[in-house]
Amino acid sequence: MFKGSLFFVFLFSVQSIFAHHFSISIFSLKTVHSATVNISRGSYNLFIDSANVATFKQGETLKFAIEGSKIRVHYKGTSKLLSHFKLTGEEYLNNFKIGVGGELRTYEDNLICRAEGKSILLLNDVELEHYIAGVVESEAGLKAAPEYFKLQAILCRTYALKNFDRHALEGFNLCDNVHCQAYYSKSSKIPDILKATTATNGLIITDDRFDLINATFHSNCGGQTCNSEDVWLTPLPYLRSVKDTFCVKSRNARWEKIMTKNQWQNYLMSLDVPKELDTAVNGEEVFFSPDGRQISFYFPGKSVKTTKIRTDLKLKSAYFKVEMAHDSVFIQGRGYGHGVGLCQEGAMQMAKEGYAYNQIIGYYFAGVFIVNLNALEFFKEE
Ligand SMILES: [Zn+2]
Ligand SMILES: [Zn+2]
Repeated sequence: MFKGSLFFVFLFSVQSIFAHHFSISIFSLKTVHSATVNISRGSYNLFIDSANVATFKQGETLKFAIEGSKIRVHYKGTSKLLSHFKLTGEEYLNNFKIGVGGELRTYEDNLICRAEGKSILLLNDVELEHYIAGVVESEAGLKAAPEYFKLQAILCRTYALKNFDRHALEGFNLCDNVHCQAYYSKSSKIPDILKATTATNGLIITDDRFDLINATFHSNCGGQTCNSEDVWLTPLPYLRSVKDTFCVKSRNARWEKIMTKNQWQNYLMSLDVPKELDTAVNGEEVFFSPDGRQISFYFPGKSVKTTKIRTDLKLKSAYFKVEMAHDSVFIQGRGYGHGVGLCQEGAMQMAKEGYAYNQIIGYYFAGVFIVNLNALEFFKEE
């Protein structure tokens, strides 16, 4: 009986996430004072509370702007002062263009607008798979093999479902910037992205207990990914360091930052590194040349985490060595990003070489399963 109720609760929660639209805060990095919406496909109804007050066909426009603590909406030669309203797509496929402060984007499904203090909160109430396609286009860029778009869709879907309550206190699911996942428009430029989303519809990644994984990724690992605890303290069995030979010739594989000896010494002083180190600095010797990734940078009598040095000096990654030459300090690094989970440039290369999406996911995430959300309850019951 007890097990049965737990099972029911699980099934209900997963099904409800899967079936429902996601509510995404769009233009979330801007303070929105006004916007223009143009219906670019299908038709839309304007709802105020539960009343349908107007219908908009393709090509029709409405404009709105904050006025006091409410929103003044102009449409069809009339205007209304409202605290919130919703535009609901009424046909099989619906999308609209929305312009805010000179930036124009296109989104699918519905738009919710709410006055919040002296600005407007814009929410795209969107079907999960439409959202995933838009995220893949924003996150993965446009140049990749079709197999790569499939695994990126699976990663983004897993992330969205695992973090669906990240902005619950603000009244929506996820934001559209990199704090959650980049979502700058509907997918429209690359047909392969829509095909990849459809081909992997509902697929997500779980750990060996069939819980959604933390599907993290980064641009380039530099040849070796990190254990989760080396960057974020929490050890996770599927986020283990792996050697990656696929990304080492890619765009973000190597970088260099040059500092003057003075700048470097001032930085070391700010870390309270003991003075004996001056000898090494003046002696032009290589004093940090890791063979593989290091968690800490060891000075005589003191160690500093490489992730701290990365943040302090705004380095592309925490995988680097330092060399002296005359009055300059050369920080030579590998990779771009935190290094945990899937390496995007490595995965792109694997896809190009003919590996399948499940092989690529298995390469970067240890001991995980790719399952369909609809089938998850059967595994979960075991
Ligand atoms: Zn967010
Ligand atoms: Zn890599």
